[in-house]
Amino acid sequence: MSSSSQMKVIVPDVSGDSQNYQFTLDANADCFCCYYYLSSPKLVGMSLYNEKQEEFYPQKEYEDLYREGLFVSKGNPSMGIVQSINGSIAFSVPIAKDESVDLTSLWTASLSDTDNFELKVTQRIVEDKPISEYVLKVNLVLYSSGTMQSQQVAWITKAQKRIKAIFRQVPITCQFSKIDQYPLPDNKITINFNDPNTAKIVKDCAKADELTVIFVEGLVTDIGTEQETANAIGRSGGIPGPQGFVNQYAATLIKLTNRADDPFVVNKGLLANTVAHEMAHYLGLTHESGQDASGKVEPNNLMAAHGGIAMQQLNEKQKYILSHMPLVQAVYSDRELSEITPVTQLEIAVTTGTRSYAGGTSDNTNMVLNFSLGSDEDGFQTWMLDSSGTTNYLVPGTTTVFQLQEIEDLYMEDLYNWKIFCDWDRDVQYPMNFQTVTNYWDLAHIKITANGTVIEDTDMNVILSWIVQTTIQKQIKTN
Ligand SMILES: [Zn+2]
Repeated sequence: MSSSSQMKVIVPDVSGDSQNYQFTLDANADCFCCYYYLSSPKLVGMSLYNEKQEEFYPQKEYEDLYREGLFVSKGNPSMGIVQSINGSIAFSVPIAKDESVDLTSLWTASLSDTDNFELKVTQRIVEDKPISEYVLKVNLVLYSSGTMQSQQVAWITKAQKRIKAIFRQVPITCQFSKIDQYPLPDNKITINFNDPNTAKIVKDCAKADELTVIFVEGLVTDIGTEQETANAIGRSGGIPGPQGFVNQYAATLIKLTNRADDPFVVNKGLLANTVAHEMAHYLGLTHESGQDASGKVEPNNLMAAHGGIAMQQLNEKQKYILSHMPLVQAVYSDRELSEITPVTQLEIAVTTGTRSYAGGTSDNTNMVLNFSLGSDEDGFQTWMLDSSGTTNYLVPGTTTVFQLQEIEDLYMEDLYNWKIFCDWDRDVQYPMNFQTVTNYWDLAHIKITANGTVIEDTDMNVILSWIVQTTIQKQIKTN
């Protein structure tokens, strides 16, 4: 693997009058974002156009996806009203490359107000194409009182698997940093990015080319001015957040508990989905992006505003946006395409055993299993085996065959390992059940077929549960 993309930040010149900002992108720019920061809350009109007076791409293609409270259309398709939230950010416009838009022309951003704007443009420069894989560096930070710190680190570490699986739908590969740990400051950290104490901490922790996630024990979310924040457990510094530069909004904030029985952390899926939701905001997804054509929220969509552990699915629009944000760096394979065989068909058959464990009768209805295939070096692709269909593969003594869909960037030459790991089912009502000894799955046999070739066919007889073990990983026997 070699990386051949980079990010650059432009601070555009003001030309003509103080309301027209002009900039030109590099010739091999792949996409860009504009960021407007206001000195105080207000409504501001903005238009963005190139030399041919073409309207910008995502608005044309995806209508309202980029607005959601920040950006409201006023009839003119290339004109918007900017409203700052909490007196903080204005808004940002991600633009993806499209044949019909000349990305590298001279762009003009015109604003209806001149009061102390800060305008920045982030562009991603790509040397080679096509882009086949994206790497997202995730910078993890924890502010803790210290009383439950090792447990908190374990919660965050555990959540990484599911976050990674969610973003593999794109395919974005999350690369998590080790967790930087700090004691709680004297002044409380709040969910308001304009709070001076919070602003300083975000600025200190953020990194230009990474998505920073700051976990704060006892994060103050009820800041009084907005009802929506009262029950919030996370917030992004922008939609999208700053990419390629650092300021007081360049992070997502996540509230963490110090109570071992808090459902939010006992249920690992809930913590992971919340973090993934805020990360997706940071990469440009609004709540509206999770609606279907009729405006109905898609069930289980990651961006459902008031969801919970059900949120993990991404739709095609969202996948497009996520993979076209500057912060998502392109990585290219060194191999020639002729040297590798894409996996186009993948079938997994799991047989559930009938053994009883610890004297109890299996009650595994609240479990969901994730199946991964690939290698440590070239990455795994992960599927969640859906137990909510007509066939419940957890029923003892049954064999269930899954045809795995949406296989991306997986090659026969990379199939070195497979993994199964268990986690909470998406709609669990009683999280504590999972920690009972009777909540287990007896994996008796597994058979994996790729492109019609059997690559694994073996007896397992492994008990998977929260108590015994949650993950098995096996090397595929090479023929
Ligand atoms: Zn949200």
